[in-house]
Amino acid sequence: MNLRRILVTGGAGFLGSHLCERLVEQGHDVICVDNFFTSQKINVAHLLARPNFELIRHDVTHALWLEVDEIYNLACPAAPGHYQHNPIKTMKTSVMGAINVLGMAKRCGAKVLQASTSEVYGDPDVHPQPESYRGNVNPIGPRACYDEGKRAAETLFFDYHRRNRVRIRVARIFNTFGPRMHPFDGRVVSNFIRQALANEPITIFGDGSQSRSFCYVDDLIDGLIRLMNAPDAVTGPINLGNPVECTMLDLARTIIDLSGSSSTITNKPLPSDDPRQRQPDITLARTALQWEPKVPMREGLARAIAWFKTIDLRNYRPPTPNY
Ligand code: NAD
Ligand code: UDP
Repeated sequence: MNLRRILVTGGAGFLGSHLCERLVEQGHDVICVDNFFTSQKINVAHLLARPNFELIRHDVTHALWLEVDEIYNLACPAAPGHYQHNPIKTMKTSVMGAINVLGMAKRCGAKVLQASTSEVYGDPDVHPQPESYRGNVNPIGPRACYDEGKRAAETLFFDYHRRNRVRIRVARIFNTFGPRMHPFDGRVVSNFIRQALANEPITIFGDGSQSRSFCYVDDLIDGLIRLMNAPDAVTGPINLGNPVECTMLDLARTIIDLSGSSSTITNKPLPSDDPRQRQPDITLARTALQWEPKVPMREGLARAIAWFKTIDLRNYRPPTPNY
């Protein structure tokens, strides 16, 4: 195999740590850059002794000077509670982070992959969502800092590609879950599992009829690496996610069942602009990458529950207040 120097921004986060792990196992020279806003070193502690892994504490809103062959740009808070914590910083991270990695890619001739999101579709009125759908985003709502930041980042990627011939890949990632999710990130899977394991009430926002489609982390990482390794003509944007859709009520019941919990279900107000439905159309990923998810949701949830049972919640803190 052709061994490469690979930068992963946001590499200590949930997805980033799995990606770094996979790339280190493949023998690549991996540089993980993170400011630990929504993560902690514990996620990559097992990689620190590996000679082909390097960890740099750095904020991607500031320029970084490295020579690499590939860049996976994952740095950005992803959970609604995290990205709304400091919305201006979230927008800066998406936009200035994109400018900084694109500038580096242009200088080094590196390939650069953007971790975009299904949130670019907003609260979709086309279902399931193909890449050609332009979305229904509220530009001034509480989710806009993330949605519009990611949309602006996609714009930058395509303008650097057209103007400077930078070799880009844009993945639109749909809800992904698994071990190393931050247990206090407020996302639905981490909340429900934490609550179920403590036999506390499961908090469903609204009536629980809203839907999402959940992808197990190993499948998603496989999709990201396939996209990076695809021919340059495959720029994306390309949806990566599991098309099996479920309601939040069904998710709560499945997690209660799998964890043998005595939790009850309680309803809380639905946050504003919460998308009603979400399901990826992955026709393009199937044809261009020969990729589709393999891990069924129940099996993935069982693995995530097993991991949550092993962790000490005292090792995890909420986002640092002054970011
Ligand atoms: P995460 O919060 O676990 O990871 C993000 C990482 O980026 C964290 O380690 C955080 O400390 C770091 N970070 C944040 N701001 C930074 C900055 N300014 N400089 C340097 N590092 C910074 O989230 P995740 O779920 O692993 O998401 C990773 C990427 O994938 C994000 O870009 C997210 O938007 C995208 N994504 C994730 C999902 C999902 O379901 N997990 C869905 C769609 C898109
Ligand atoms: N949600 C919920 N209870 C929770 C956390 C989230 O019912 O404790 C709902 C939330 O309102 C949304 C869905 O679960 O409809 C997914 O939320 P998450 O924050 O995981 O991701 P996103 O909304 O960004 O898809």
